[in-house]
Amino acid sequence: MIKVVKFGGSSLASAEQFAKVGKIINADKERRYVVPSAPGKRNSKDTKVTDMLYACYELVEADEDFRVALMKIKDRYDTIINGLNLKLSLEEEFKKITENFKNKAGVDYAASRGEYLNGIIMANYLGYEFVDAAEVIFFDEEGNLDAEKTDKVLGNRLKKIERAVIPGFYGMGADGRVRTFSRGGSDVTGSIVAKAVHASCYENWTDVSGFLVADPRIIDHPAAIKTITYRELRELSYMGASVLHEDAVFPVRKAGIPINIKNTNAPEDEGTWIVESTCHQSKYTITGIAGKKGFVSVNIDKDMMNAEVGFGRKVLSAFEENGISFEHMPSGIDTMTIFVHQPEFEGKEQAVISSIHRLAQPDSIELEGDLALIAVVGRGMKSTRGTAGRIFSALAHANINVKMIDQGSSELNIIIGVSNADFENAIRAIYDIFVETQL
Ligand code: ASP
Repeated sequence: MIKVVKFGGSSLASAEQFAKVGKIINADKERRYVVPSAPGKRNSKDTKVTDMLYACYELVEADEDFRVALMKIKDRYDTIINGLNLKLSLEEEFKKITENFKNKAGVDYAASRGEYLNGIIMANYLGYEFVDAAEVIFFDEEGNLDAEKTDKVLGNRLKKIERAVIPGFYGMGADGRVRTFSRGGSDVTGSIVAKAVHASCYENWTDVSGFLVADPRIIDHPAAIKTITYRELRELSYMGASVLHEDAVFPVRKAGIPINIKNTNAPEDEGTWIVESTCHQSKYTITGIAGKKGFVSVNIDKDMMNAEVGFGRKVLSAFEENGISFEHMPSGIDTMTIFVHQPEFEGKEQAVISSIHRLAQPDSIELEGDLALIAVVGRGMKSTRGTAGRIFSALAHANINVKMIDQGSSELNIIIGVSNADFENAIRAIYDIFVETQL
């Protein structure tokens, strides 16, 4: 059995953290392929190495002296190397990086050095082979992952290596220059590696013990989620949960490999399992609650709307024309409501209204802003009576006015619209009824 383990920046921010990671890897010989991030923050006032690299490269682009900024980055690595008593020098690597910076190797190249150098240290520390991600992970001409080529080359390469470190976050672009994923992209690398080696599990080590049922900034010490399906996670992440990069689920999901989110600072905690499907039911009926403020509802009325062929398409074209994506679309017999993101919509509101009038000739259009959407997600809803009833009676008891309700036909989630001002109270009320009282 093979496990692929990815460690986030806070797990690798210092020599002490590296030592914890070394212990975790050595405790299980199935942990054969390791994907590190760049060193993250050591404390709340610290700066991530990736951010230092971006700032340093800004100096390069402005033709300013970048040497001091680069030496500060080298210091971060040297402190780790010395703290681990390694006989390793990054002198030559930094000479190469300086040269490449002078030749304007690109901002992605600059950012990628964070994981590249951390990978070299990690490989040296563990006695594993170092595999440069630029040799095994490929992007196509549009800048998207070339999944097929990557899977083949990476799989073949790792087949011959018993234990390896593959730095996260970057690969090789179609133009032969280094490219990165979007921020937090080491999660994606871990998933790609897990697929390529047919791992039995992808362990994603971070600084929390997995996903929580609700946002800890709103709920004090919320319960942890033990098992969540990919689809549930998608419903929740879409509303703002941020433990795992969204794109990280795709490679492993296709291959049926589960992800286990684990805490480097509490390795004995079970963490959260993300799986394709499960018979394990959550103790609370619901799996999680997530939400986001800042939506606008666009209410469109027209008599006999239900009988007009193509009405929905015309309305949606108005949004498309103006480059606006919509979030939800509940409807009635003569009404249709489109929820859009307020910051995206504000500047274009009048243009959208006139497009709707031109394309769909509605009777009236009304806007309401400062709305929040809350997703209550749970695979258990399908087989439980009264879930919606409990949600709405909890909200009524908390004096919260529900402005919109949308239950997906998969019965996996219920979306509730409330005003921004009620957002936190609504989440507390729903959490209480399902988790605290477990009625
Ligand atoms: N170091 C990169 C970032 O800060 C990628 C990652 O950590 O996953 O976004």
